[in-house]
Amino acid sequence: MRYERQILIKQVSEAGQKILANSNVCVIGSGGLASPVLTYLACAGVGTLSLIDYDTVTDSNLNRQFLYQEKDIGKPKVQIANEVLSAFNPEIIFHPIYQKIDKTNITEMIKDADVVIDCVDNVETRMIVNRACLQQNIPLVEGGVNGFYGFVFAIKQEYPCLECIGYGNTKLKPPTAALGAVVGVIGSLQAVECIKILLGLEGVLYGKLLNYDGLIGSFETVEIQKNDMCEAHLFVN
Ligand SMILES: [Zn+2]
Repeated sequence: MRYERQILIKQVSEAGQKILANSNVCVIGSGGLASPVLTYLACAGVGTLSLIDYDTVTDSNLNRQFLYQEKDIGKPKVQIANEVLSAFNPEIIFHPIYQKIDKTNITEMIKDADVVIDCVDNVETRMIVNRACLQQNIPLVEGGVNGFYGFVFAIKQEYPCLECIGYGNTKLKPPTAALGAVVGVIGSLQAVECIKILLGLEGVLYGKLLNYDGLIGSFETVEIQKNDMCEAHLFVN
């Protein structure tokens, strides 16, 4: 009964629901993007969710990171997310991993994932995640925000990655300006892309950068190209 309404969607159906139940998704970062991502994937019945983060809750998180409340300040986010999501949907298996990601440990942490979702707020970690997913050929859903602007796209070996589009040169430094409602839009879109990938649906945002401008209320999708000189891609070929 829990999934009655989404089983009505022909692209999901009972067969798709079983696929979701047997799926394993790894979410990296447990902040503003991860709140809608984890909530909607748990709602949708994705069977196994891993969450990697080493941060604790602070009061400045609470304008957008709705998994946490004031009483959680000072506690590890993965611990609170585990409690909230397990109560929300006891059918799912949740793996909270309280660890900082680096080049040496990421391979092991994501190896069982069908999809990885990047919800971090710094360029350095994004680049590590990007390379690790390319190397292991695991689909990666990217998303980011800056004020009223946000973007989403999906990556795998045959398609452009973060390094292809020069994301490593971005000058953005944390803390990034973030409005909770905009973060919610982008995180929700990441969850949609993840579910499409798990179900094997067409139309995934591979090679397509979806830009959202909340100030003028527009979505625009632009094609992006693989860069033949991309070091991340050369590394895996
Ligand atoms: Zn690339």
